Amino acid sequence: MSNPELNDSIAVIGAGVIGCAVAWNLVREGRSVILIDPDEPGRAGASYGNAGHIASELIEPVPSPSLLFGFWKQLAAFDGPLSFESGFLPGSASWLGRFVAAAFRHSANTQILAPLVRASTAAFHRALREVGQVDLLKLNGHYSFWTEPGASKRAQAEAQHMAALGIPTMPVDEEFRQTIAATTGSQHTTGLWFPETAHVLDPMEICAAFARAAIQGGATFRKTRVRAMAPREREIEVLTDDGTVKANAAVVCAGIWSESLLKTVGLRAPLKAARGYHVELPGHTPLTDAPIVYTDQTTVVTPMVGRLRATNFVEFTSPDAPPDPRKPRRLRRKLQRVGYNVEADGPSWMGSRPVLPDYLPGIGRAPGPRPIFYAVGHQHIGLTLAAVTGEIMADLIAGRTGRHDIAPFDLRRFGAGGH
Ligand SMILES: Cc1cc2nc3c(=O)[nH]c(=O)nc-3n(C[C@H](O)[C@H](O)[C@H](O)COP(=O)(O)OP(=O)(O)OC[C@H]3O[C@@H](n4cnc5c(N)ncnc54)[C@H](O)[C@@H]3O)c2cc1C
Repeated sequence: MSNPELNDSIAVIGAGVIGCAVAWNLVREGRSVILIDPDEPGRAGASYGNAGHIASELIEPVPSPSLLFGFWKQLAAFDGPLSFESGFLPGSASWLGRFVAAAFRHSANTQILAPLVRASTAAFHRALREVGQVDLLKLNGHYSFWTEPGASKRAQAEAQHMAALGIPTMPVDEEFRQTIAATTGSQHTTGLWFPETAHVLDPMEICAAFARAAIQGGATFRKTRVRAMAPREREIEVLTDDGTVKANAAVVCAGIWSESLLKTVGLRAPLKAARGYHVELPGHTPLTDAPIVYTDQTTVVTPMVGRLRATNFVEFTSPDAPPDPRKPRRLRRKLQRVGYNVEADGPSWMGSRPVLPDYLPGIGRAPGPRPIFYAVGHQHIGLTLAAVTGEIMADLIAGRTGRHDIAPFDLRRFGAGGH
């Protein structure tokens, strides 16, 4: 390998979709990888329960001037009404200050994020082909529907906005529009098709596919929690609940839980949990083989293996607070309203999108002599960006000039961390 610092093992901390994609990309370059997570790959974090949408249209970071002036409507735009739980606002002044500052850098930040997102569908396809699981990816795009009065104007505005960003959309085929009009019972129904997006048949299976390929290629999996990292003169001691793992390098990919780990190596990662919920409709026939975004209900319904999955809500609160039982019930009512056959109550899932205040990911190398890297803060599009992030991390660790400029993703933009 070209990087002389790295002849030995690399500990990848966290086996969500980012950690699994990173682990596999390192193994495919012949590196010796130890993947560490207290749970099975893809089981514990946001990567388990997301909407499965490869959202190559979401090239704009969320903070924007129009969001600041039409806050509720805009933040709800993709996957759910916004809420701040008690205690969030008082303790988050500096995070919100950075969020507002990022809103006024919206255009520049879009230029920074867009190349990664635009590359996402192709990178995902490439990665799944290489791990022999391309069957998990469907390249059928997705649909957005508006059903309230003014629907056609709003759809037109969205099509124009997307065109300005270079994202193609097309009017929905009349027969399918009529199907949605019949199921939603809305004469206003207007839709757009986004032909270049994609979806996966099971987000957890994506993590498992990358982890399996990594393990088949020689990686080991340690089922334990990392407490801290201690850089020593010749190696890094990764301190876990089950003893110390010695590695030559480490990559932190622990989703919303990354902040405290990165603090142990002097990095500040001001992550907030933007929690979301899903409910599933087992055995429900899909209306089409692609995700459907019900824009006015702020709900996305994705066909997955043997069931539909509906996701919704952006809830800023502690990742460890108990789920709010009202939200999945509300989601079920929304689904009934748009014509799905769903019980009023039943199982649900809640998970935390890891969000930095500027809605750009944190990807880079920690300062200091030992090679400690990180890939965190992938916000609402971590599944989308997983394959691209894996490729970026392989380039970074190999010391190669990468395909993307990652300097703007350096966490030192948030100042120094500390022990
Ligand atoms: C409702 C909802 C819908 C979404 N829909 C989409 C979508 O359609 N498309 C999209 O692209 N994205 C979507 N997302 C966002 C996406 O799911 C996340 O951005 C992504 O899963 C983040 O991946 P991650 O690997 O960084 O974190 P996670 O998946 O949270 O994984 C972190 C892992 O780190 C492990 N870990 C934590 N602490 C430690 C420790 N100390 N030691 C070792 N391991 C540790 C955890 O156990 C976990 O396995 C959605 C999210 C939600 C909540």
